[in-house]
Amino acid sequence: MRAMVFEGVGRPLREVRRPIPTPGPGQLLVRVHACGVCRTDLHLLDGEVQIASPPRILGHQIIGTVLARGGQEGAPAPGVEAQGAGAQGVEAQGAGAPDAGAQGAGAHGAQAGADGARVGVPWLGWTCGRCEYCTSGRENLCPNALFTGRDIDGGFAEYTVADERYCFPVPPSMSNEQAAPLMCAGLIGYRALRLCGPARRIGLYGFGAAAHILAQVCRWQGREVYAFTRAGDERTQAFARSLGAVWAGGSEETPPEPLHAAIVFAPVGPLVPLALRVLAPGGTVVCGGIHMSEIPSFPYSILWEERAVRSVANLTRADAKEMLALAPKAPVQTTVTTYPLERAGAALEDLRAGRFSGAAVILP
Ligand SMILES: [Zn+2]
Ligand SMILES: [Zn+2]
Repeated sequence: MRAMVFEGVGRPLREVRRPIPTPGPGQLLVRVHACGVCRTDLHLLDGEVQIASPPRILGHQIIGTVLARGGQEGAPAPGVEAQGAGAQGVEAQGAGAPDAGAQGAGAHGAQAGADGARVGVPWLGWTCGRCEYCTSGRENLCPNALFTGRDIDGGFAEYTVADERYCFPVPPSMSNEQAAPLMCAGLIGYRALRLCGPARRIGLYGFGAAAHILAQVCRWQGREVYAFTRAGDERTQAFARSLGAVWAGGSEETPPEPLHAAIVFAPVGPLVPLALRVLAPGGTVVCGGIHMSEIPSFPYSILWEERAVRSVANLTRADAKEMLALAPKAPVQTTVTTYPLERAGAALEDLRAGRFSGAAVILP
């Protein structure tokens, strides 16, 4: 198969030929139809987020068709020592221990492992099922987690393998390329929105793949979206308004009303105090990326009155189920720019330069 491989920081992705991977026990062999490009891929490329053992096939927003499945359930991910089954790992409130026996797959994962089924493969690739986070509905924080396209080969390739328990059925109404950006921008964006609580007026700083999905979710939920872009980026501000934003402006501007929450998707630390300054008392700023430049110091007065700053990390399978059920109802319609596999590097550079609206998707 053809694949685009990360070989080291500062080096461009390289096209290689590799054998089609063999699914291990509990894994699916997936023919990749589409794979979204994410800002995290840029952080990996630039070494701001580490890849422990290159070469690695990037890509963690995969839509594909199941071609085959490996042996019995509950197998460890590649490169992970088998551990005793978590016999005490009782299923905990819809987000519990994934290794707690055969139910784990059906309860949380795709139930879509049949040959020919269409599945989505997200960033969360494997969790241990045994740690304090996995056993308390917070598998997104599992210290042993493995992530698709960082620790496990991802979707910038014609084929991939994925643990069935972390794959999801794709909303039938969405095409492959439309659905791909849901698998990270949509799912982690949705988790960030959940962390905003019942906030009605929501600011989105950086109107890219995640924000363009969330704007549609917010509109459907009856929230008001305030879109913040680089100063003078009228194209993106118009794009935000077309998706239902009630206001769009530059990130230094003050919206007409104080906001109840803000999500900062751009990896730009100075946006955090800017967002704090436009929050109503009790509001939260959620930092939505895996990496951000340094946050400058700011006066306590803009945090006072129970304002909060927090981050969002990864996703749980419960987040994914909720978001993927909601997306066709809203309905979320993604704006995508497609690239052939060998142009994955160009897609990443176009993302860096802000050359497209919405999301980029690789079509192997
Ligand atoms: Zn864990
Ligand atoms: Zn991502």
